[in-house]
Amino acid sequence: MSEILSMKQIMKEYQMGEETSTVLKGIDLNVNSGEFLAILGPSGSGKSTLMNIIGCLDTPTSGEYILSGREIANQDEKALAHIRRKEIGFIFQSFYLLSRQTALKNVELPLVYSGSDKKIRREMAADLLKKVGLEEKINHLPRQLSGGQQQRVAIARALVNNPTILLADEPTGALDQKTGHQVMELFHQLNSEGRTIIMITHDVKLAKQAKRVVQILDGNLMEEVV
Ligand code: ADP
Ligand code: MG
Repeated sequence: MSEILSMKQIMKEYQMGEETSTVLKGIDLNVNSGEFLAILGPSGSGKSTLMNIIGCLDTPTSGEYILSGREIANQDEKALAHIRRKEIGFIFQSFYLLSRQTALKNVELPLVYSGSDKKIRREMAADLLKKVGLEEKINHLPRQLSGGQQQRVAIARALVNNPTILLADEPTGALDQKTGHQVMELFHQLNSEGRTIIMITHDVKLAKQAKRVVQILDGNLMEEVV
């Protein structure tokens, strides 16, 4: 399996007035293509900070981060935006769907920015909604869908640019247990088709459903044997 992500001694400090707090204290992490990795840690341990660095939404204070062969520290803002679009499909706890747009339009939106043809966009979005089991809901607005269905729309949207990594921050955090389980089944299906998934969670049970678990403790990352 080929390596798609490599972090060496990643540190992240936040400056609050006079105070410096070091949230990540030298993270080493390697992820291969096709993995399903969970990053586990308690609230406040730096999971979202690490996710933002993995997803190129933020840069580390120091350390080396190579994603698909590119050193992220050497990229300008425009290059970073391109890398984000191409490499990362983001999934968040609170879905972040556009409330006045249908499921289809929500999934299509990333393709509008990349300038694809309207008919092709529609077809791709409809195909992805079918893949996540929502072929009958393509014209529904988010408020006409359950929480689990809204998260599946968000997953379809995350897939639309065919990203190298699906990056999910507490993807079942807003869902009840049964619905959360369905979302996890979808992740397993996508992973078995070869999709690389990184899931961030504070929930030990959920983390154990991934194929590999690493844990953030006191700003460091350790391999968890499960
Ligand atoms: P988690 O996602 O594991 O709950 P976060 O990464 O959100 O943790 O936060 C880790 C720590 O970093 C917390 O103590 C938080 O207050 C602090 N932190 C996060 N973002 C910022 C920021 N932009 N500025 C200052 N401190 C921050
Ligand atoms: Mg968080």
